[in-house]
Amino acid sequence: MPDKVQLRSSLLQARTALPVIEWRQKSDDICSHLTNSQLLTNAKTILAYFSFRTEPDLSSLFYDSNYRWGFPSCVGKTMSWHVWKPGDSTNTGAYGITEPNSDAPIIEPNEVDLILVPCVACDQLGYRLGYGGGYYDRMLSQPKWQSIPTIGIVFEFAYLPQLPIETWDKPLQNICTENKCRDAINRVSTLNYV
Ligand code: ADP
Ligand code: MG
Repeated sequence: MPDKVQLRSSLLQARTALPVIEWRQKSDDICSHLTNSQLLTNAKTILAYFSFRTEPDLSSLFYDSNYRWGFPSCVGKTMSWHVWKPGDSTNTGAYGITEPNSDAPIIEPNEVDLILVPCVACDQLGYRLGYGGGYYDRMLSQPKWQSIPTIGIVFEFAYLPQLPIETWDKPLQNICTENKCRDAINRVSTLNYV
């Protein structure tokens, strides 16, 4: 099995090589699947991400004001989550990632119904390959975050049978690609469609 570093690099290269028109279409398809998922429609406060380095773009969802959207700001080795809506200002944070303003209201774990997690790759068990910072592993290892539903967001080519994992890797509960949303294997289904 290739190691994480090698896998990360080749999958990021493949994602960067996607023609913009395909990236747009696949991103829109992911948004449609999410819109039709009961995990989303039953939620009120959803944590998401601003697309970075050709990650699937979920921004069309953020205009739906039925939901309260939260986005991360990296503070040292942890993420703090802030309310953001279209039109609010942003700044460029650690790693060059767009972040909400740090004076925007903070969202606490007990207010969160769903977390949309950006991934370099996901496997059928829900394990995630990130950028190597371990930010989501650290977050999801904390009891206050552990029971909140999670959906890993990846393009289908990066949905793999099995990723190399380490003791600290935390699996996600669901995976959504441009083809469909799936429950991670070994999980009771949470993906009822409306
Ligand atoms: P990623 O999940 O971003 O692909 P890795 O799984 O390789 O990255 O994790 C990156 C680093 O994060 C590892 O060196 C690991 O030590 C650290 N890490 C992950 N989870 C925790 C945790 N719960 N507590 C402390 N450090 C952690
Ligand atoms: Mg990890």
